[in-house]
Amino acid sequence: MDLVEFARTKLGWVDPRLMAVAEKYLKAIPSVRATIEKEYDGIMGELEGAVKPYTRDFPAFSRLPERGRDREEILDEMEAIKAREESRWKDGFVSGAVYHGDDTHIDFLNRVYALNSQTNSLHADIWPSAAKFESEVVAMTAHMLGAGAGGDICGTLSSGGTESILLAMKTYRDWARDRKGITRPEIVAPVTAHAAFDKAAQYFSVKIIRTPVGADYRADVNAVKRAISRNTIVMVGSAPTFPHGVVDPVEELSELARKRGIGFHTDACLGGFLLPWAERLGYKVPAFDFRLPGVTSISADTHKYGYAAKGTSAILYRGAELRRYQYFTAVDWPGGLYFSPTFAGSRPGALAAVCWAAMVAMGEQGYLQAAKKILETAAVIRKGVEAIPELRVLGDSLWIIAFASEAVDIYKIVDYMSQRRWNLNALHKPPAAHLCVTLRHTQTGVAERFMDDLRSAVGHVKAHPEERGGMAPVYGMAATLPLRGVVGDMLKRYIDLLYKV
Ligand SMILES: *Cc1c(COP(=O)(O)O)cnc(C)c1O
Repeated sequence: MDLVEFARTKLGWVDPRLMAVAEKYLKAIPSVRATIEKEYDGIMGELEGAVKPYTRDFPAFSRLPERGRDREEILDEMEAIKAREESRWKDGFVSGAVYHGDDTHIDFLNRVYALNSQTNSLHADIWPSAAKFESEVVAMTAHMLGAGAGGDICGTLSSGGTESILLAMKTYRDWARDRKGITRPEIVAPVTAHAAFDKAAQYFSVKIIRTPVGADYRADVNAVKRAISRNTIVMVGSAPTFPHGVVDPVEELSELARKRGIGFHTDACLGGFLLPWAERLGYKVPAFDFRLPGVTSISADTHKYGYAAKGTSAILYRGAELRRYQYFTAVDWPGGLYFSPTFAGSRPGALAAVCWAAMVAMGEQGYLQAAKKILETAAVIRKGVEAIPELRVLGDSLWIIAFASEAVDIYKIVDYMSQRRWNLNALHKPPAAHLCVTLRHTQTGVAERFMDDLRSAVGHVKAHPEERGGMAPVYGMAATLPLRGVVGDMLKRYIDLLYKV
């Protein structure tokens, strides 16, 4: 990586904004362009085997088969593929990803899906059941998140946490333009708030101001205060943050927002279905929900600790008036009077039904018991990690165990763990990794196995610091390369690779 190496060693001191401009001109030079392209091709070539493991054993289609294939043959093929992938997540080797995963729960959700597979929430006249399921999921989620304190809490169902966040940011943009005349809108969000806020800023042409966090990885209130301007449409706090699992000082932040008439969004995608039960169980949970009068919207993912199938999330608002800024209507289209509450047109009614069924089948007692198991297991793991002298646990989290190290390369730990089938989340800024504990990890022996493997990983990496891994060099480069565009382009090449047949 000559060019990359050069950029890293010689250009590290250059101001990032200047660098971005320089990078654009550099890449316009054909020879530089060609060199970079060759670098990308080399790296992607190395990754291809891991990304495309089925090309040898299963037929691949780059065009339609002329005649339809036998259904049983298709099912057999999928069974074979499932068998290869299932045990890793089912046996609890994966951080986050599958939050429930017991066979009886999955079978039940699959039956509910089958019953509703043809429904479309866009056509409420044909399937009023879809509207019933969606509205009740929203109401139950709102009740769980402090709607009882008053304030007319309402919302919609979306396809996931990212969509909930995008919808909320679009809503505040349109609300602020209409009600306050803000035409150069700004979001203020701590650096730890989810990447979906950057995505929203990019999609909707809103400026995002990222503020630093303190030594405890929670938002720095003073930094947020300084970032607020006349153009601020919304401030953001997480409950908890994805990287370190800590709850931002939402009470203080939302009061700042309320006093200035700015919106405040709590991103409870990860904690919306766990923190209320943790609180009920007696854990110390900072205030984050609608009981705080300054909180004007909350995203909470039913498809995480709500234990629904992937593809649903709730986005909640304080007041029906705010919610209306999310809606879309078209009144002059020859296709008829058209309206939709979210980004999608047609929506899978079956996923709403599955979500509703998961929630009413779990009930308060079910969620409480699940939370208890997860929090107790996480406490055991946290203690175990704290006992490893080479590792340092980051932040005061209830169930996301983030750790860093001054003694070993943390990405090599992640690499070693993946050789032992573990899939941890790599973090950066600062370099770290985390395990997000789910019901999968509460199975007998999983926490012990994790600790055994983590201790071996630390021992091995310490004894062999020179070994090259898969993840380690990539993150090493991302951390030190001043050419941010090159890092971003590399990720885009990776997506290209995913779509290669
Ligand atoms: C998962 C998550 C999101 C995004 O949710 P998706 O369902 O992956 O789109 C947003 N914020 C936090 C804190 C999350 O953990």
